[in-house]
Amino acid sequence: MHYDVIVIGAGSMGMAAGYFLSKYGKRTLLIDSFNPPHNKGSHHGDTRIIRHAYGEGEEYVPLALKAQELWNDLEKVTGKQLFLQTGVLNVGYEKTDFIQNIISSSKTHLLPLKILDSSAVNKQWPGITLPENYIGCFEPTSGILKCEECIEAYRELAEQHGATILTNTKVKELSVHDERVTISTEDQTFNADALIVSAGAWSGTLLSKLDLNLPLNPVRKTFAWFDASEDLYNYRDFPAFSFETSHGIYYGFPSIDGSGLKVGRHDGGETINPEEAIRGFGELEEDTTDLKQFLHNYMPFTHQLKYGKTCMYTLTPDEDFIIDLHPNYSNVAIASGFSGHGFKFSSVVGQILSDLIISGKSEQNITPFSINRFK
Ligand SMILES: Cc1cc2nc3c(=O)[nH]c(=O)nc-3n(C[C@H](O)[C@H](O)[C@H](O)COP(=O)(O)OP(=O)(O)OC[C@H]3O[C@@H](n4cnc5c(N)ncnc54)[C@H](O)[C@@H]3O)c2cc1C
Repeated sequence: MHYDVIVIGAGSMGMAAGYFLSKYGKRTLLIDSFNPPHNKGSHHGDTRIIRHAYGEGEEYVPLALKAQELWNDLEKVTGKQLFLQTGVLNVGYEKTDFIQNIISSSKTHLLPLKILDSSAVNKQWPGITLPENYIGCFEPTSGILKCEECIEAYRELAEQHGATILTNTKVKELSVHDERVTISTEDQTFNADALIVSAGAWSGTLLSKLDLNLPLNPVRKTFAWFDASEDLYNYRDFPAFSFETSHGIYYGFPSIDGSGLKVGRHDGGETINPEEAIRGFGELEEDTTDLKQFLHNYMPFTHQLKYGKTCMYTLTPDEDFIIDLHPNYSNVAIASGFSGHGFKFSSVVGQILSDLIISGKSEQNITPFSINRFK
């Protein structure tokens, strides 16, 4: 069978792209090494934060708002609750770029944002003990996405629209010739008019087969759940959070229906080869000591470690994404390097990828994510 489009990697970005392409009538084949959603890449662990006023740069705000609109649409179409509007509390020193970007984004885009000094934060959320000098920026309209359920929802809809999803099948070879794409797995070969490479931490290896060497750095990350006082940390009263402290950047989630408080460290992590087994949670001493120290300092009414997991970030040098067409092939779109903050955007990235394949352009401004910035 000949396809209009093949998507390599049906994870966060790829599954969303598969949904939009099949909805627009494209004969789409999605291929994944595992059975998405799964726990081998970058999209597991129950929850992801979605923020709109964006610390990483104002250019992300229109994308975040469009992504939120598309998540709301997905909830309506499927009848599933995928988003919890817990609000997000961003904490840091007032003068940092992260906090200043959040404040200026909220002004430019008229986003609701409450700026609180440390004592106001501690008063509003008695589960937090924030020292003086830090401030909190609380965005009440943002919150939490149930990440695996989002991917499942796009998968169901893509299949309903006629997409073929080939699971537990790794793509080994790919080539582009005469405006046709050929990809091979262990025992099969497929052809299509166009290709999307959205293979997360594995994208670098695949793209090198199309003569494209991107500066992608896969990194091992850890996160864990802790028993916590439900009175203080339950999701109806306590927000998702991101803390830029002098001892590292941490993020986390309130306890959802007794899950415990989930926390992870955003900065740091060891570079890994995604083709090899990653060390499990707890194999490095700092896996637990970092998180416990953070909770001890800022959320001391938490208790025992329940369990932890490992996951992968795919970092670019500037930690901005790569969303672009291949410089030599206008029928190959690429989405990678989401640098630990991409999930919230996967709905809109799926739409952008599908637009790039269908019309060669997107309504969204994706110039900041172009490949030629690395030249
Ligand atoms: C611990 C952690 C916490 C995070 N927290 C947040 C957050 O709060 N908010 C936020 O917005 N983002 C967050 N992120 C980042 C976000 O989850 C990622 O940016 C996003 O999931 C990346 O999506 P992806 O599609 O690139 O990768 P993935 O979702 O991993 O998808 C890639 C897919 O490609 C497949 N694949 C790879 N190679 C091949 C091959 N050769 N053949 C076939 N298939 C292949 C893989 O099996 C996989 O399914 C977090 C990430 C981690 C790890």
